[in-house]
Amino acid sequence: MITLALSKGRIFDEALPLLAAAGIRIAEDPESSRKLILATSRPDVRVVLVRASDVPTYVQYGGADLGVAGLDVLLEHGGQGLYQPLDLRIARCRMSVAVRDDFDYAAAVKQGSRIRVATKYVSVARDHFADKGVHVDIIKLYGSMELAPLTGLADAIVDLVSSGSTLAANHLREVERIMDISARLVVNQAALKLAREPIRRLIDAFALACPKA
Ligand code: ATP
Ligand code: MG
Repeated sequence: MITLALSKGRIFDEALPLLAAAGIRIAEDPESSRKLILATSRPDVRVVLVRASDVPTYVQYGGADLGVAGLDVLLEHGGQGLYQPLDLRIARCRMSVAVRDDFDYAAAVKQGSRIRVATKYVSVARDHFADKGVHVDIIKLYGSMELAPLTGLADAIVDLVSSGSTLAANHLREVERIMDISARLVVNQAALKLAREPIRRLIDAFALACPKA
């Protein structure tokens, strides 16, 4: 049995066509079903539903043989024990720095002020500001980062942006793009060695079906 870890929402929805290309169809709708383990049209493949940020951990420790995780999540996890054969080019967005409309970010950076940055992506944020030589205090949050600059918790946030409409709705402005983000296929290193052929074939099918660069 091959176990594939997915998270509900964007990743699940955008992975469906790739699964279909590998002959994998899922009868259940994860939004309405309470099941966490979903059977598929292929008797040798099942899907487990986990939190987006837990996908690398499941695959690392063999709770799943492979999974789909955003680059944002992978960078925070560190990627230990994971083989990352494929950029699936789905669930695309970017990781950016944003501030309140009325915050003069350029001036704060130029003056060498300490900037308070709230984010879920502590490791990416720390590296980004260290590279720029900007002094920051990082405040770890688990969600709703947009709220931090509005309440005075932080001067800036590091968050994922796609259309920018969430930022705009909260009177925030994107001031730096840190990196482009997309979802990656991750594979347990031992599983790839032991069950080489079936997993290889899955990877090849996903590679053929995913959007081209
Ligand atoms: P959880 O719900 O477990 O806290 P999450 O909120 O990060 O995790 P989703 O919102 O489903 O989970 O996002 C899953 C992935 O989708 C992200 O890790 C990211 O790679 C990708 N993604 C693409 N566009 C966006 C966006 N605009 N906002 C957030 N995530 C995005
Ligand atoms: Mg979410």
